[in-house]
Amino acid sequence: MKDSTPLEIDEALQKAQIAFQTYKNTSGAQKAILLRMIASEIENLGNVLITTAMEESNLPEGRLVGERGRTVGQLRLFADLLSEGSWVEASIDTAIPDRTPAPKPDIRKMLFPLGNIVVFGASNFPLAFSTAGGDTASALASGCTVIVKAHPAHPETSTLVAGAIWKALEKCNLPKEIFAHLYGRSADVGKNLVLHPLTNAVAFTGSFLGGKALFDLANQRKKPIPVFAEMGSINPVLLLPEALKNRAESIATQFAGSITLGAGQFCTKPGILIGIESPDLDVFTNYLAQNISAIKPATMLYDGIAHNYDYQRLITLAQTGVRLEAESATIAEKDQAMPTIASVAAQDFLKNSTLHEEVFGAFALIIRCKNKQEMQEIVQDLEGQLTATIIAEPDELLANRDLVEDLKAIVGRIVFNSVPTGVEVCYSMHHGGIFPATTDSRFTSVGASAIKRFARPICLQGFPEQMLPPELQSTNPLNIWRLVNGKWNNDKV
Ligand code: NAP
Repeated sequence: MKDSTPLEIDEALQKAQIAFQTYKNTSGAQKAILLRMIASEIENLGNVLITTAMEESNLPEGRLVGERGRTVGQLRLFADLLSEGSWVEASIDTAIPDRTPAPKPDIRKMLFPLGNIVVFGASNFPLAFSTAGGDTASALASGCTVIVKAHPAHPETSTLVAGAIWKALEKCNLPKEIFAHLYGRSADVGKNLVLHPLTNAVAFTGSFLGGKALFDLANQRKKPIPVFAEMGSINPVLLLPEALKNRAESIATQFAGSITLGAGQFCTKPGILIGIESPDLDVFTNYLAQNISAIKPATMLYDGIAHNYDYQRLITLAQTGVRLEAESATIAEKDQAMPTIASVAAQDFLKNSTLHEEVFGAFALIIRCKNKQEMQEIVQDLEGQLTATIIAEPDELLANRDLVEDLKAIVGRIVFNSVPTGVEVCYSMHHGGIFPATTDSRFTSVGASAIKRFARPICLQGFPEQMLPPELQSTNPLNIWRLVNGKWNNDKV
């Protein structure tokens, strides 16, 4: 695919700007129909979508069939959210004309769409975080237009999905220009999209370098815009002593699976496992090592990612105090990720910032602490993360509330006695975290609340009823839940 030219980028945004004037006033019910239609059109692509994605991403059929299910499930979740309607956070304060000393005006507020959203497709989710993935679904749900920059690692897959979106727009009698699809192998395409004056916000999943570069560009604009970048994380796991004593083998099996799932190419892959030195930690390390040696290397998404993995892995293994615990017993072929476990003492980890960096692939580092204080020191020293996990017995968790409090200061999701991979798409999910995991920890890129990234509140004061959107009208024609004079109800005012 040829890189989109500056002229094509400008044309896409000019047309999106015109389409936005129609789309922003499209009702929630109509937008829900569109999202369901996109889901059906993606399903209608059938097996060609799966085989194309397999060819371009090296991911196995089962994973991509599951990812397609997740993609259409996300679209339908946002459709449900729109049908229910209360996501706009409608709030009404009715007037008190005879209030003294000053009358209270009628004030009403709700969320409105931001405008044109640039979405960067992610390499590691060719379907669920690419052309019609979570970012696109949530932006379209909010009433925004979307300009996707397809990830260069899977252009054909992206083109097929873009076709499904345009078909759905046509069937719904909506302007085709609500959605645009651009290509780029050079960073210039992304830069031009972020710098274009008609771009109102950006959604990105990928490397820290990429996300931070786009964030900085957006802030250097004459009119800065929000960049919601989800960039990477080492997802610490705290292994508490009682749990290791009681079930080292099953924990090791569970984590070997999580570390190597999808060749370790998940932003929630557990990257560091922190335990307190003891015979039980040694037993755990041995079981994990046995599991890792038995797991075969898998081909990574594309050669660049495989090269990065090998480079980062070798750099990490070469650091002072790092000991290789296990690699797969099978030799890795070209572009395959060698499953690897290493360990290091807490003090060496604390002194070395290289060890705090994400190794994107099937790699994890066990950190051996002398005592709980050292474990706590590490948690307090870590940068922002998407997730943290605590493996503990229930009483042990209760006795370690201080560790949980420390984790709350750096992460967006804390998992108890499970693995962080497998991010459920639902209403209560928060997939975000303190910088550098993301650029704005108040928002999530997964789950229903992801829609909030692309909307902003507007307050309408003293407006006549016929000028108000249905969500703010006194008659409450949509029967949605609203905050009326400080109390929730779904009645008329
Ligand atoms: P990436 O290099 O961050 O690229 C993602 C997208 O952003 C691509 O479309 C890329 O376009 C664009 N981009 C990157 N830097 C840019 C810049 N300075 N200016 C303009 N556009 C820019 O991610 P990737 O290709 O998916 O993988 C590379 C590395 O990212 C991996 O090795 C891994 O470490 C990490 N990664 C992390 C996650 C995560 O979830 N945390 C997910 C995927 C990848 P171009 O390719 O055209 O430059």
